Amino acid sequence: MNLERIKEKLEILADAAKYDVSCSSSGGNRKNNGGLGNSHASGICHSYTEDGRCVSLLKILLTNHCIYDCAYCVSRKTNDIKRAAFTVEEVVDLTMNFYRRNYIEGLFLSSGIFKDSDTTMERLVRVAKKLRLEHNFNGYIHLKSIPGASDEIMKEAGLYADRLSINIEIPTEKGLKLLAPEKSHSEMIKPMGFVKNELALYKEEKKIFRKVPKFAPAGQSTQMIVGATDETDLKIIKVADHFYQNFNLKRVYYSGYVPMLTDARLPSIDSQVPMLRENRLYQADWLMRFYGFKAHEILEKENPFLDLEVDPKLAWALRHREQFPINVNTASKGMLMRIPGIGGKSVNKIINARRFQKLTLENLKKMGVALNRAKYFVEFDNPNIFNKYIEEQNFKKIIMNSMKSKFQNPFSEQLSLF
Ligand code: SF4
Repeated sequence: MNLERIKEKLEILADAAKYDVSCSSSGGNRKNNGGLGNSHASGICHSYTEDGRCVSLLKILLTNHCIYDCAYCVSRKTNDIKRAAFTVEEVVDLTMNFYRRNYIEGLFLSSGIFKDSDTTMERLVRVAKKLRLEHNFNGYIHLKSIPGASDEIMKEAGLYADRLSINIEIPTEKGLKLLAPEKSHSEMIKPMGFVKNELALYKEEKKIFRKVPKFAPAGQSTQMIVGATDETDLKIIKVADHFYQNFNLKRVYYSGYVPMLTDARLPSIDSQVPMLRENRLYQADWLMRFYGFKAHEILEKENPFLDLEVDPKLAWALRHREQFPINVNTASKGMLMRIPGIGGKSVNKIINARRFQKLTLENLKKMGVALNRAKYFVEFDNPNIFNKYIEEQNFKKIIMNSMKSKFQNPFSEQLSLF
């Protein structure tokens, strides 16, 4: 192996892969059956760079050669950059070497499309297959699905990868046609639909047969680029909700567009999507997945962008003052989940504890509730005098003053905002 050449390829292909944020490795439970690594017990966890991107996996492209010309992508065919391509064996060797040195906990492998969808996908699958079958590698493998890849290849991909993902990239077909006219959402959705059906089939077979081969045990995910086109946050979370509902996705990732290329169709090179917008989208996503909110409740047509000053749950509560204060001792679980400052774990604690006693503000404090927000929205068995009083004041300002304005990593500690 020519080490200098490999090093050069690694620099080019790791750099090209850094714009894909959908590399979270949670959810794998592949066990060590006598080989190397274990995606569960080795504690594969999220590790993030300063700007919130995951670095715990060897994250590379197989190649940055591409037959497509997507305006937002550094690898697009008309961009004059250094090109490189790994062989299947090179990626396998790198993964094994890095894993043995404890540099990585798994592999995230994507690729430009160098000939056609099936040829590219087939090579990605060969990497995973070699790692599993020839090296008995039990670490985490996340493969990108190539738009338009055939069902047969996707089936193989699911047998060797822990997670599969396909990037929707631009939230709407109209935006996609503007920036990537050679692509279509239907092409992207096809492998996603196949994986969804296979996952359902696997689940059913598991009920009947004792031994069923694993199929993408960490599920599938997607990523949307935010801010390359003019979709509102409402549109973006509605699209995300559609994919959660219809394709049983584990995660939707939101990646703020990073301007690097000059193109009349793109935002100007000096405009940057605020990190806080990404963060707010992750919070809205969290509300839809775990707090029972619908996209149309989080944002409305008349006000389609997330408030950058306060998190979406607090913003909803501020718009719906008529629903508050909520009596902690009698409210339903669904309503408790809507109180700013009270997270899912605290709701469970409240429901358990109130079976034995009438709760007070002091009890909530002991449960770890963020009282700096919650106190404005709850009452106990006496009317909340304080709450009634501040109705006449600038409510949002008071709450904001009582909160620490601390930036949160979008992937870690999201719950702490609620
Ligand atoms: S197909 Fe993928 S790699 Fe190729 S230009 Fe489009 S986004 Fe970039």
